[in-house]
Amino acid sequence: MRKLEEVLQDWEAVIGLEVHAELTTLKSKMFCGCKLEFGVEPNTHTCPVCLGMPGALPVPNKAAIESIVLAGLATNCDIEKHSMFYRKNYTYPDMTKNFQTTQGPVAFCMRGHLGLAVDGTAAKERITAAALEADAVDGNATRTDTGYVAQVGITRIHMEEDAGKMNHVGGAQGRIAGATHSLVDYNRCGTPLIELVTEPDLRTPEEARLFMQKLRQIYLALNISNCSMEEGSLRCDGNVSLRRRGAKQLGVKTELKNMNSFKNLHDGLAFEICRQAEVLEEGGQIYQETRHWDPTSKRTIVMRVKETADDYRLFPDPDLAPCNLSDGFIESVRAKLPELPDQKAARFEREFALSAYDARHLVEHRETARFFEACMTLAGGDAAALAKPMANLVINDITAYLNAREGTALDETPLTPERALALVKLTAEDAISSKQAKEVFAAVLDEDKDPSAIVAERGMEQVSDTSAIESVVDAVLAANPDKVEQYRGGKTGLVGFFVGQCMKEMRGQGNPKVINELVAKKLG
Ligand code: ADP
Ligand code: MG
Ligand code: ZN
Repeated sequence: MRKLEEVLQDWEAVIGLEVHAELTTLKSKMFCGCKLEFGVEPNTHTCPVCLGMPGALPVPNKAAIESIVLAGLATNCDIEKHSMFYRKNYTYPDMTKNFQTTQGPVAFCMRGHLGLAVDGTAAKERITAAALEADAVDGNATRTDTGYVAQVGITRIHMEEDAGKMNHVGGAQGRIAGATHSLVDYNRCGTPLIELVTEPDLRTPEEARLFMQKLRQIYLALNISNCSMEEGSLRCDGNVSLRRRGAKQLGVKTELKNMNSFKNLHDGLAFEICRQAEVLEEGGQIYQETRHWDPTSKRTIVMRVKETADDYRLFPDPDLAPCNLSDGFIESVRAKLPELPDQKAARFEREFALSAYDARHLVEHRETARFFEACMTLAGGDAAALAKPMANLVINDITAYLNAREGTALDETPLTPERALALVKLTAEDAISSKQAKEVFAAVLDEDKDPSAIVAERGMEQVSDTSAIESVVDAVLAANPDKVEQYRGGKTGLVGFFVGQCMKEMRGQGNPKVINELVAKKLG
């Protein structure tokens, strides 16, 4: 199989996502009063409604409708005032009702969109955009200084309910293959679920990954779900097809089911693009089918050939009245919208004169955004001057530290906003070099001490005092008259030698900027 970069030279990938999020922050299920609680004794949170007993009547959960309207408003959707619940009929042991309650052609939220900023190495996958000048347009993408911004259409967000959970016993790794029997936990039955469907507007696996990350940040900011891909409260199906570059018509797509991490989503799509290209280039045909990505063997395998919508016999649920949302209700939900990641980034750009890139990366995680703001508040009048170095500390050092220790919360580490600010100030005032700052940063976290204490203990104060440095520079030049001669004769590369000698003389504590300036002045 050819590599993704090569395949994308000849083919354009077309990707659409279907993203399911469980509304885990709600108190009760979608159509009954059963408590929404996770990781508890199986089959302890069930009732006649969520078990689908004859005669039991469902009642929609108003808080769940608030959550989906929040999601719709946050993704620029039109909120439909009149919609209905439908029955999607199928039978499987994880659902005793034999139908899933979902929505029909009209969902609560329709016709939304999100702008997706892609930069760095992620932007390289879209080769047609990478080749463009600033502000030039490539399909739905506009070139920026650091990459491009793509507009991604959102077809709809509809409400549905989750099914129960099957536990396969006796086989390898809980898989159904080789199992002797299966147990069902109906606690998850009736968990409110929102499904967001995108238009086929994504063009690379990186765009798909970034879209998921962005959506997750939005849902977390809205506090409608804990969005754990590992635990399955956020799940994603990736639909992908290929067409020749320049072609308009969409190709036949395959669907990758239940991608449970950002990496799997990216890698699964990348594999599928390469696989489809190979089939098509050999004169074969792509069948519309559901496939499963196996990260261990790094390939996709067929799960089933696609059923059509007709097979489900969708029809309006006669037990549930049509939903009529009032303007008052929609406005009351709008009033609850928190500051969203994009708005926060725009504010950071404005208030602290940061670049769009820095601002966007600061708001990627709520806790780092909050930490940055706490530092800026502490900085008071110095905030504008310290914003950029503080952003660097957060985006680079703090993020790397947290990434290396998965599950560590920033506010549980010894690094308080006070200490981070003190560290950034020490560097900004040239009291320590940027190299020493890295050492102090690590020591604050390891030893739980203030930066000033570490600098004092380790005798790290950087010498910036001009007269002290001047005498060292004089001494170094006086000790190397031959080299000074050579320099003046045109070997200007020797400047590094003089600076190095001064640094050595000062045991690394001389401010390199001041040394450089003085050496240049004295030689010139
Ligand atoms: P299905 O009927 O198979 O469920 P939908 O029309 O509902 O298909 O679309 C499901 C998802 O697949 C959407 O995200 C949509 O954007 C995407 N999609 C539809 N057609 C294609 C295609 N030819 N290539 C890639 N993605 C597609
Ligand atoms: Mg579909
Ligand atoms: Zn129930």
